[in-house]
Amino acid sequence: MNGPMPGRILTVEFDGPPIDRDAPITLEELQTSLRKASGTDATLTAVHAATRWTDNARQASTYRLGRVLLAGDAAHVFAPIGGEGLNLGIGDAVNLGWKLAATVNRWAPETLLDTYTTERHPIGAWALRWATAQVALMGPKHRRRARSSVMADLIGGGDRATSLAKKISGVWQRYDLPGDHPLAGRSAPDLEFEDGSKLGEHGREGSALLFDFVGDARISRLGERWRGRLKIITTRLKENSDLTALFVRPDGFVAWAANGQPDLDRAASVLSTWLGRSE
Ligand SMILES: Cc1cc2nc3c(=O)[nH]c(=O)nc-3n(C[C@H](O)[C@H](O)[C@H](O)COP(=O)(O)OP(=O)(O)OC[C@H]3O[C@@H](n4cnc5c(N)ncnc54)[C@H](O)[C@@H]3O)c2cc1C
Repeated sequence: MNGPMPGRILTVEFDGPPIDRDAPITLEELQTSLRKASGTDATLTAVHAATRWTDNARQASTYRLGRVLLAGDAAHVFAPIGGEGLNLGIGDAVNLGWKLAATVNRWAPETLLDTYTTERHPIGAWALRWATAQVALMGPKHRRRARSSVMADLIGGGDRATSLAKKISGVWQRYDLPGDHPLAGRSAPDLEFEDGSKLGEHGREGSALLFDFVGDARISRLGERWRGRLKIITTRLKENSDLTALFVRPDGFVAWAANGQPDLDRAASVLSTWLGRSE
């Protein structure tokens, strides 16, 4: 991270990008910027290393065009305020990786690769909007104070602050997947099982996971139809819960969950959507 820390100077200007963003950074350029930002006549005597970046915020309209796929900064780029760019790119890769593998291994349903744009584009658009708003909040000093104090009032504390923190950290993220279970479309919680293992440990090989928490043999029989494309785990939850079954995609997102009697026709349809035709 490039930021204001001991031994480093960071200046931020709000009047447009440099004329030539690739030109070498000179001591004179840094000194002019420092004087402008600080309002002092500070003099720099030496520069050991320097870098510059611009707020080049934009997003591709689609992340897939035929065999061309975009991820990371190639798909969306914005000011580093908020420190979300890298995580967003990793999220793209995690979402896309298993879909590409399924395509290469020839078991992907036809529409699987298109779900990459459908799921990741709205999240990129959101991050871009938030980063842009944060830049707008900074701005020149005399206006910044007013804007920042209004924002501080609006955020306040308690629930609003918590929901803001969840948004920025990404834990709010949800893909718009069918189903009305609260876990559908969410990153799977790291549930703990009676044998002491945790959900995350079962996903280390990057396989899809089908959990049966109630010893209902019909669930594993269903999963057998997609043998080789998913791991079936029959176990019990450590904590008391209504959750009876769970299907987690290879990227760790829940695509189907059941409380009480599981609807196995619905489960079969979800498995076909993500894992292709059954055997
Ligand atoms: C000052 C600053 C601070 C930041 N701080 C944070 C932070 O705290 N947290 C955070 O999450 N994000 C942060 N970011 C954003 C983060 O750095 C980027 O989002 C992330 O690096 C993007 O990764 P990427 O792999 O998509 O692209 P890049 O890191 O740009 O990687 C692309 C690579 O492709 C190479 N390449 C380009 N063209 C070609 C070609 N034709 N052939 C072969 N190779 C090519 C490039 O040389 C480069 O190595 C920051 C960004 C900046 C500028």
